[in-house]
Amino acid sequence: MITPAYKIKNMSINSVNKKILTVNCFHCKKEIGVKYVPFNTSYSHINNWEYWTEDEKNKGLWLCDFCLFKLFRIHKWEFRKLIKTKEKQSLLRQYIAAGRIRGEIEESFIISKEQRERERERERERESKNH
Ligand SMILES: [Zn+2]
Repeated sequence: MITPAYKIKNMSINSVNKKILTVNCFHCKKEIGVKYVPFNTSYSHINNWEYWTEDEKNKGLWLCDFCLFKLFRIHKWEFRKLIKTKEKQSLLRQYIAAGRIRGEIEESFIISKEQRERERERERERESKNH
């Protein structure tokens, strides 16, 4: 479950490359480097939790690609609850479909390799139908 309670304390700008902001994912605590996007004159919004939730309370919270991916793929109910606007929901969906946000889903049950391949095949089919 996602609990946006952990606030980032040591937000530091990498001294080697000033255009990378080093932050920690509030969920899994993993370190992430947020790229500066000159075109938007701001840091990439992909990992910016306030951007997705449009909630000021989440200012300064960052979520890594893996956690965003999991939120979307596994925690669908929470995904809809936390990311309130349809625009942001569909944008995140697009980012995942385009591979801009990558992640993995852990297996809940141990199944054979063949079974897993079939599952993936089915998922790919479902995805291509949705787009
Ligand atoms: Zn994370």
